[in-house]
Amino acid sequence: CKRVIIKVGTSTIMYPNGTVNLQRLDKLAFVLSDLRNQGKEVILVSSGAVGVGLHRLKLRQSPRSIPEQQAVASVGQSELMSLYSTFFFNYGQIIGQVLMTRDIVVFPESRLNAINTFEQLLKQKVIPIVNENDTVAVDELDHATKFGDNDKLSAIVAEITQADLLIMLSDIDGFYDCNPNEDNQANLFHEINCITPELFSLAGGVGSKFGTGGMVSKLKAADHVLKHSGKMVLANGANPTDIFKIIAGGEIGTLFVPE
Ligand code: ADP
Repeated sequence: CKRVIIKVGTSTIMYPNGTVNLQRLDKLAFVLSDLRNQGKEVILVSSGAVGVGLHRLKLRQSPRSIPEQQAVASVGQSELMSLYSTFFFNYGQIIGQVLMTRDIVVFPESRLNAINTFEQLLKQKVIPIVNENDTVAVDELDHATKFGDNDKLSAIVAEITQADLLIMLSDIDGFYDCNPNEDNQANLFHEINCITPELFSLAGGVGSKFGTGGMVSKLKAADHVLKHSGKMVLANGANPTDIFKIIAGGEIGTLFVPE
């Protein structure tokens, strides 16, 4: 396993009270920098711009209009990158910001440009930190189309970079046969080989106040990964050092792998 994409949800990097979980960010930077030192190629897809922006602008909840949301995301994105910069710097790791739009799916030339950028960054031992370009792409914010949340974005990044593994970190241990926050009898799936309509019927909506995709969008991402012969692990982001165990093949979370 040489090339790894790690996707973190807002719930992984922020406390429920809306402040940034600095400990989590620090540990994440430590783990990813260490993986880089081991010779792995690492790409981070990070949500959280809106959450961090709300906090920075002292807003209690997401504003209604799209331009207002975009302004929040703009403030939050630079604030978030500044935090990542500080933590990664402590571990001697250079990062690069990559903001994407759906162009990479629609236009082959944009796709190739994105691939070239990733290849060059990885060659220079940089860890790219990816997010959707919220100024241009409003889909994620107003849910106008099902395309465009960061779960899907991370699956597309995994596809175009031909990553060996996508690790999707959330606030839950994996995919269950029902929402474990609503039913304590829920059973964890350890391995899933194909995404069926039955699985979608077990997936509920968003868990936290900052969650955007919910399990449906995670299953869609897994479907995309499996269709491109990739592997994905959905796991809890509470302990970023679990990433070491996941890469070593430890039984953590739900593994989505073609048969
Ligand atoms: P993130 O912000 O990490 O992307 P989301 O809130 O979008 O996370 O999705 C995770 C949430 O999905 C969990 O906290 C849980 O409440 C909810 N959920 C709904 N159905 C399921 C299921 N079948 N298995 C696991 N989690 C589920």
